[in-house]
Amino acid sequence: MYGRIALISVNGDPSAVIGAEEAGGQNVYVREVGKHLASLGHQVDMFTRRIDPSQEEVVEEAPNCRTIRLAAGPLEFVKRDDLHSYIPHFVESLTAYARRHSYDAVHTHYWHSGMVGLALREKLGIPVVHTYHSLGAVKYMNVAEIPASAQLRLNGERRILEQADRVVATSPQEAEHMRSYVSRKGSVDVIPCGVDIGHFVETDRAEARRVLGWAEQEKVVLYVGRFDKRKGIETLVRAVAQIEEPVRLVIGGGYTPDRGDGVEFERIRSVVEEVGLTGRTEFTGRIDQADLPNYYTAADVCVVPSHYEPFGLVAIEAMACGTPVIASAVGGLCYSVVNNETGLLVPPRDAERFAGAIRRVITDAGLRERLSLAGVRRIHDHFTWAGVSRQLGRLYANLAARRVSNRPQKQQSVA
Ligand code: UDP
Repeated sequence: MYGRIALISVNGDPSAVIGAEEAGGQNVYVREVGKHLASLGHQVDMFTRRIDPSQEEVVEEAPNCRTIRLAAGPLEFVKRDDLHSYIPHFVESLTAYARRHSYDAVHTHYWHSGMVGLALREKLGIPVVHTYHSLGAVKYMNVAEIPASAQLRLNGERRILEQADRVVATSPQEAEHMRSYVSRKGSVDVIPCGVDIGHFVETDRAEARRVLGWAEQEKVVLYVGRFDKRKGIETLVRAVAQIEEPVRLVIGGGYTPDRGDGVEFERIRSVVEEVGLTGRTEFTGRIDQADLPNYYTAADVCVVPSHYEPFGLVAIEAMACGTPVIASAVGGLCYSVVNNETGLLVPPRDAERFAGAIRRVITDAGLRERLSLAGVRRIHDHFTWAGVSRQLGRLYANLAARRVSNRPQKQQSVA
C-alpha cells in the first residue's frame, strides 16, 4: 500500500549541506529514506525548521519528495540543546499544514520531533513512528557537559518510547539501550541505517590518490565526521602519534569558527600540535558527499573513534567503498562492524589499542583485502537505503491499516 508520509526532523534539515555542525547522519537518513520511499511510490513531505530568511520554504528533493521548512522560533540557527522552547510553535505550523494533507503516518527524528509527533497524533490521530538518532540517557553517560535541558530530554524520550505507535532502533544495541535506560514499555522494531550503494562504491584508487594529491605509497588514515567531543577524534590523533612508520592523518569535516564545532576543531588542532603531528595531518574541511567515495577508496583505513555512536553512517559508507574500518566498540558500530571479519573493534578512548589496530591493518595487505571484501558484502546484504526504506514502508502501511480498521464504523440505519 502506498501512502502519504510525513517525515519530521525539526533540527536536521534533509536538504542542508552535510558535514558541518549538527548536520550529519540524521539529515542524511531523513533525506535518503524520503527519496527512496518516494521512488517506491509513496508521497513524502519532510518537515524541518526554517533557520534563515534566505532559505527556500519548499525544496523538491526528488519526484514526490520535498522538504518543507516551517516557521518555529527565530529565523536563525539554534543549538539542538536549546530548541525545545520552539516545539509548540512547530506543532502549530505543522498542524495547519497537516490538516490540509491527510498523512497516513508520521516518522519523527530526534526527541523534539517525537514530541511534535505525539502532539500531532493527539490532534489528528495520525500514527507515529519514532527514531531517536541519539539517546540522552546514553549520551550523558559519555560526555562531560550536560546541558540544562537534559531532564526535559530524558522525560521526553521516555514518553516517546512509551507512547509512540512504534519506535525504530537502528541497531539491536540501541534497542537494548532503550530497554535498559529509557523504559521497558513501548514497541520497538530494529531497522538499520543504510548506504546509497550506487554512490558509495570503490573508485580507481590510483586515480583517487592523484586527484587528492596523496602519494601512491603513503599510508593514509582517514577520519570523516563532525567536530564534536563525543566523536573521539583526540583518541585517533594520540593513536597515530604512537605509530612508528610515517602515516598521513586526514581529518575530514566542516566547522564554523566560534560555534561548537569550531571550538572542537581548535582543540583537536592543538592536540595535533602537542603530539608533533602537524606536518603529517591534513584538515580537509567539509567534504562534499560527491567526493567522499574518492576519499574512502584512497585511504588505507577509516577510523571511527566515537565515545558513543547510535549508528555511525561513516563506518558503513567506508565499508561500501571497500575500505577497512577500525571503530570503537560502542553502540551501532558493534552491529555494522563485525570484529575481525569486516573491520576491527577497539575499546573507546584507548589510544594504544587504536594504534595497535591501525598498525595491524596498514602493515597487513592480506588482512586489508579480507576485511574489504567482507565489508562490501555485509553492506550489500544488510545496509542499503533501498532495503531500509522497504522495511519502513511496510511498517507505515501496517500502522495505517490498523488505524483504518480501528475507526468506529458508521451505524447502519435499519429500514
Ligand atoms: N559527512 C559529509 N561530509 C563531511 C563530514 C561528514 O558528507 O565532511 C557526512 C558523512 O558522509 C555521513 C554523515 O555526514 O553521511 C555523518 O553521519 P554519522 O552517522 O557518521 O555521524 P553523525 O553526524 O550522525 O553523528
